[in-house]
Amino acid sequence: MEKILELKHISHAYHTPKGETPALQDISFSVGKGEFIAIVGPSGCGKSTLLSLIAGLLKPESGEIMLHGMPVIDCTEKIGYMLQRDELLEWRSIFRNVLLGPEIRGTLSADTKEKAHDLLAAYGLGQFEHSRPSELSGGMRQRAALVRTLILNPEILLLDEPFSALDYQTRLNVSDDIGQIIRKEQTTAILVTHDLSEAISLADRILVLSRRPAVIKYELKLEFSSLGTSDDTPLNRRNAAEFKTYFNLIWKELNQDERSSY
Ligand code: ADP
Ligand code: MG
Repeated sequence: MEKILELKHISHAYHTPKGETPALQDISFSVGKGEFIAIVGPSGCGKSTLLSLIAGLLKPESGEIMLHGMPVIDCTEKIGYMLQRDELLEWRSIFRNVLLGPEIRGTLSADTKEKAHDLLAAYGLGQFEHSRPSELSGGMRQRAALVRTLILNPEILLLDEPFSALDYQTRLNVSDDIGQIIRKEQTTAILVTHDLSEAISLADRILVLSRRPAVIKYELKLEFSSLGTSDDTPLNRRNAAEFKTYFNLIWKELNQDERSSY
């Protein structure tokens, strides 16, 4: 598999007047084209910091992060970043929210507009193009936020707990939906979540981070051989035989960490 993203020996600490908070320590991994990685770890361990570094919003204290062999700081436009809050602008219609990125980049054209219509229709929002964000359900808003990110053709999509503001039922449906969209578009993605089931239902590979300062303490490649390729959906995974085994493996890794901090 062609490697598109590579992190080499990343360490990062925050410096404030109160002192130093080491967040990440010697993190190295790479991501293949089209691969879906989930990162799990205890709260406050440095997951969001890691995504901000990959997005080029922060510069690591040491180590390097390359996208197609180029430092990410120099190609941030190739990276899509989706946050927990959908950040849709209430004063714009859904259609115009989706076009915000191309407008800012100066790439708005008849083609991008057509693509916006196509994506919105494909993801069940065709009838809501003229609606305001507040008229949509939480799940629809997250889909609109995803379309807004995808229209920029990111080479890699970063998702920071994108479903955690949704209630449980919506969350299952939306993560299933969004998981399938990402697979269909064959987008390379990194999802940060504290929800193990979500990680197992969506990813090809899971990285488990330790408590702060985070190191990669465990890595697990997920294979659902009991499901055929066309049946390998997030909802089917939750009912597959392998699910429980993976869940227990990762649970054990995370829990060892919790215990040692008591
Ligand atoms: P996570 O996303 O895993 O919950 P974060 O990456 O947000 O963790 O934070 C890791 C650690 O760094 C936490 O202890 C947090 O308090 C600290 N931290 C995060 N952002 C800043 C900042 N801008 N300044 C100082 N400390 C920060
Ligand atoms: Mg976070």
